[in-house]
Amino acid sequence: MTAPRWPKPTAADHAQASAEQVREQPCPRCGAPTLTARTPDRVCAVDVRANPTPLDPTAEILARLAGRLTWCLTGGANIPARIRWRDRWHIAAGACTHTVIADHHCQPHYVQESLG
Ligand SMILES: [Zn+2]
Ligand SMILES: [Zn+2]
Repeated sequence: MTAPRWPKPTAADHAQASAEQVREQPCPRCGAPTLTARTPDRVCAVDVRANPTPLDPTAEILARLAGRLTWCLTGGANIPARIRWRDRWHIAAGACTHTVIADHHCQPHYVQESLG
């Protein structure tokens, strides 16, 4: 008889954890520095590419008016960084002390102009 064992983490679990890890990677389209990660939401995980620049409340409003999504950058000294969905209830609660970042949209001025 074999003793029952706890299931070991599968390769898929490791892949999931590493997908959630926040990485600094240049945007493949415009080369700007960006942060990429999958949100740790099991129900509807989203792959995020965000600008690394933290936003103050005014900058966040401007970003949202411009049609960009904003995210909470969570984690700390001993906690791995994660990018989390930032819904309006989370914002309205006023208890959020996370760093706020916005979706990366390629900026036109990064594109080389060729006017001859
Ligand atoms: Zn937050
Ligand atoms: Zn870009």
